[in-house]
Amino acid sequence: MAKNIKLSHKQARNVKARHSKLLDQNEDDKSINESSLGPIIEGTVVSRYGKQVDIEENSTREIVRCYIRRTIDSITTGDAVLFRKDIQHGDNQNGLVETVRPRISLLSRPDYYDGLKPIVANVTKILVVSAKEPEFSTNILDRYLIACEQAKLKPIIIINKCDLFIDEELQDLNRILSTYQKLGYQTLLVSSKNGTGVDDLKNLVKNETTVLVGQSGVGKTSLLNVLVPNASASTNSISETSGLGQHTTTNTKLYHLPESGIIIDSPGVREFALWHLTDEEVTKSYREFAPYLGCCKFRDCKHKTDPGCALVEAVKNGEIADFRFQNYQRIIESMQINKPGAYVVPGKKYGKLS
Ligand code: GDP
Ligand code: ZN
Repeated sequence: MAKNIKLSHKQARNVKARHSKLLDQNEDDKSINESSLGPIIEGTVVSRYGKQVDIEENSTREIVRCYIRRTIDSITTGDAVLFRKDIQHGDNQNGLVETVRPRISLLSRPDYYDGLKPIVANVTKILVVSAKEPEFSTNILDRYLIACEQAKLKPIIIINKCDLFIDEELQDLNRILSTYQKLGYQTLLVSSKNGTGVDDLKNLVKNETTVLVGQSGVGKTSLLNVLVPNASASTNSISETSGLGQHTTTNTKLYHLPESGIIIDSPGVREFALWHLTDEEVTKSYREFAPYLGCCKFRDCKHKTDPGCALVEAVKNGEIADFRFQNYQRIIESMQINKPGAYVVPGKKYGKLS
């Protein structure tokens, strides 16, 4: 996703200035006496606190607050690292991160001051959560799916609170979901309340590094609690158990699933959506458009009222779902309105469409 985001000249200038400032400040690896460092150990970044990170030692799950070697230019929750503990100071549990391993994936967001800000690394699956309440909206769902397509991460469409649907509504919902299934998206109806679909959900997250995204109120926290018993109790979230105090700058948390796998809960990612995408990237994210792209009469077709538009024709012929095409147009329009905003947060202001 990162490569797709474009910054204005002003933003780029800001970024450069801030980076060089940070480099100047980043003398922290000098805070540790090299001779007191132990052997290289494998770990995972649990949380970032300004110029330090909490690292979980992979073999023991012990948390060590570490400084960051200044040669490292990017480190974030989920990163796999090699680090060394300060062994001379015993229980004082400090260390130094030596290397960040190459990432499988990276979710980042544009930040006005910092340019592209990495949020979570090495995620393998995104659960896109919708629900009966707040009202299910395919428009909002599509926004998340576009973001997942651009991040090249596999989204799973989760519909929570299925205990609240009446039969008629379920039929409508299943009709809509079948459109997504035909496009290759996996869907799952769950209820964190009555347990429907929970076993399937557990299977979906097994051995994966997952994030839950979706509007506020759809039940992400409730599902997290189902997957990680007592997750809400702060004692169970790794970020809070380091006992090192000063948890100031991030609420991102990393949870181990009872069997195997990780769930990362990050406020920054929960509502991630169309972060600085171009119209073309949005168009390419609609999987069903692919066979028709390049077939419009005009090369610069806006796929709206232009004559000879292959997409409009495909919608007329029932080859592309009408509601998906309408969502597409509304998303493109809203992006025009919102530019050059930092990113588009899905929410009420886009209304509903189902
Ligand atoms: P979040 O904002 O996405 O983290 O949503 P929460 O997990 O805080 O849930 C929002 C509200 O929905 C709470 O009042 C939950 O009790 C309720 N809720 C969550 N899951 C379900 C469910 O499966 N069925 C019903 N009926 N309510 C649910
Ligand atoms: Zn067209």
